[in-house]
Amino acid sequence: KIPRNPPPTLHQPEIWSDQFNDFICKCLIKDFELRPNVQDLLQHAFIKQIAGREKTLQKQLMELIDLNQQMGVIEKTRYFALEALDDVDDLAILEVLDENTITEQLQKRYTKDHIYTYVGDILIAVNPFHKMDLYTQQYSKMYIGAKRTANPPHIFAVADIAYQAMVSYNADQCIVISGESGAGKTESAHLLVQQLTVLGKANNRTLQEKILLVNSLVEAFGNACTVINDNSSRFGKYLEMKFTCGGTVVGAQISEYLLEKSRVVHQAVGERNFHIFYYIYAGLAERKKLAHYKLSDSKTPKYLQNEHIKLVPDIVGSAFYKEQFEAVEQCFKVIGFTLEELGSVYSILAAILNAGDIEFTSVASEHQTDKSNIINMAVLESAASLLCIRPDELQEALTSHCVVTRGETIVRSNTVEKATEVRDAMGKALYGRLFSWIVNRINSLLRPDNPVCLEDKDLNIGILDIFGFENFKRNSFEQLCINIANEQIQFYFNQHIFAWEQDEYLNEDVDARVIEYEDNRPLLDLFLQKPMGMLALLDEESRFPQATDQTLVEKFEDNLKSKNFWRPKRVDLGFGIHHYAGKVIYNAAGFLAKNRDTLPADIVLLLRSSENDLIRKLVTHPLTKTGTTAEYFVCVQGDSGGESTHHPRETTNMRTQTVASYFRYSLMDLLSKMVAGQPHFVRCIKPNNDRQAHKFDREKVLIQLRYTGILETAKIRRQGYSHRILFTNFIKRYFILAFRANEEPAVNPETCAAILEKARLENWVLGKTKVFLKYYHVEHLNLMIRRNT
Ligand code: ADP
Ligand code: MG
Repeated sequence: KIPRNPPPTLHQPEIWSDQFNDFICKCLIKDFELRPNVQDLLQHAFIKQIAGREKTLQKQLMELIDLNQQMGVIEKTRYFALEALDDVDDLAILEVLDENTITEQLQKRYTKDHIYTYVGDILIAVNPFHKMDLYTQQYSKMYIGAKRTANPPHIFAVADIAYQAMVSYNADQCIVISGESGAGKTESAHLLVQQLTVLGKANNRTLQEKILLVNSLVEAFGNACTVINDNSSRFGKYLEMKFTCGGTVVGAQISEYLLEKSRVVHQAVGERNFHIFYYIYAGLAERKKLAHYKLSDSKTPKYLQNEHIKLVPDIVGSAFYKEQFEAVEQCFKVIGFTLEELGSVYSILAAILNAGDIEFTSVASEHQTDKSNIINMAVLESAASLLCIRPDELQEALTSHCVVTRGETIVRSNTVEKATEVRDAMGKALYGRLFSWIVNRINSLLRPDNPVCLEDKDLNIGILDIFGFENFKRNSFEQLCINIANEQIQFYFNQHIFAWEQDEYLNEDVDARVIEYEDNRPLLDLFLQKPMGMLALLDEESRFPQATDQTLVEKFEDNLKSKNFWRPKRVDLGFGIHHYAGKVIYNAAGFLAKNRDTLPADIVLLLRSSENDLIRKLVTHPLTKTGTTAEYFVCVQGDSGGESTHHPRETTNMRTQTVASYFRYSLMDLLSKMVAGQPHFVRCIKPNNDRQAHKFDREKVLIQLRYTGILETAKIRRQGYSHRILFTNFIKRYFILAFRANEEPAVNPETCAAILEKARLENWVLGKTKVFLKYYHVEHLNLMIRRNT
């Protein structure tokens, strides 16, 4: 078996001993049955690597020999050849940009703790998984207004480029950060905000402070500990920093997408609820306020129970949670929330926890066999008192529902199952709406007060931190939404890369019509088209009370005519999508319920009667958005914007907007903001699954490069002229094919043409300074050279 990574000791050549040089080289080379020039290269690389070192370490030697025996010849060659190459800050200057070069270069840089690398104007950031000394004031200064090539690649350079472009061209900017969970998106977003507040020289320190606190506050509510990341963002975030025309920061606005509300009531094995629940529990305990919020200091609320936290004392005793609580409260206060608002926020959170503990039991009744009763009335009373509503009404709303038939209202009992569902729906809705309210409140507190520019137009830099492409063992509605968002963002990225390629062609006076690439537009149509796109079909089916997830997949099958959609034979309720990033099998179980996401009317009406202002607010202004969403990239012909067709639906349910249509709205809204600005891309890469420093899993990185579209860049190149070689390099390398060895042909396009014609190649192009070749041209040339020598 070939190890993916050489043993760590190979990265520390300083512990190698000089006296072993010869021996090591000999034993390495003895094993190789390679052409002499490759051997030379290896020997050179190796001697270079270990020359001048001290100390003898037998163990390392054994490891090396072991590695030597385990690794295949090819792998070895590649590794040492890689070591021999000097690494480059910008991979786009390499003559060849393919999968292997990119991964090799990244690995090489990573072993030296160079976590940042450019591919043209894209920044690749490989998560170091250890604290880096890269973000000090000194670094911050170093990157202000500096030429890009003056310093090593850095996230601060991206902030600077965006900022300078905004000021110079008076144009909005947009920084898109992508990558899988745990890749470092959120950290990168923080660093960008940090540097942008420095650049925006907020003359008002409080504002600067507030902006820096926004992320922490929102993350306390929207992040959670998952098996992948201890601080995983469970929502997408677009943060816009607002500047005057002169470049002074004057405010910030934030938009949130697709909060994973289901986490409030249920967490997978090894995962936790949103951070804030643990923080307030510990914080309120410290202040002896648990009783005030009806929380127990001995019994763990059901919503917080899992195999990690069995006992409340674990939470209450955590110094970390207490600190976090203080920090969050400080954020609230600095940003400008009132004490009254804070009290309401804590009450709502405590009410959600209390409500989660309400238990039901099944009782037989005369008419129906399964009616539900509440077991623990005291808990229900606590929840009701925190929500400032009447307990008897809460009981009624949980255990029964009204049906209107032929003008008559009939009260029906809820089964235990149904009552539990309503209870959980209430918890999720309260949390989701509370989160949106906090975000909106932050926006009103951080909105620039006065028109900041003459024409009443401010400038802004948006930072998008959104979940990357997901493909799990089981993929549900959430994954579909996330992947559609990624599909759309990828489309935007492709457009950008395309334009970037075009620029290089134009600079070299080469006809740009040859650039072709596979675009993912058909996928966007498949999802977003109206009325026959997947989301539209889902919405239509969601309006029928009799519809089931089975009828939904059948509807998909009947109506979606695309080679990117199929029904796998063996998966019940399954359907497959061939995304740009790969094939994903989804399971439609629960799609309709998740899309309807209904909160029963009885609960809404009840909460509207609350004596707490904030709670009333959460249910009075439905947080729905509809309206004209322009056709940014996708065909949305016939988009009427509103709900023009009404189908019969359950009368007891509020006619709320479906998740899919709200999602489509937010996605279009996001895109409209993004396309208005000049884009910058940061691609975060997770080098291993173990959160380990100095560990680079090649296979894993390669897959991500594919998902994040870096390889798309390489592909677009390959489909155009994949190789661009400076005249002088080209002639040095290939002149022997057309000239005698002792000749020294002039460095000009004519010499290049002579070589290419001699090699009987066609379709190549000469630019102003470079030869533009297709990959097969180069293969052919190299073959000829090998035959020649
Ligand atoms: P994502 O938002 O992509 O899921 P995060 O930004 O939360 O990932 O990063 C996950 C973890 O990786 C962080 O908690 C931190 O420990 C580590 N990390 C990420 N970026 C850096 C960095 N630049 N320097 C040091 N550690 C980092
Ligand atoms: Mg994150």
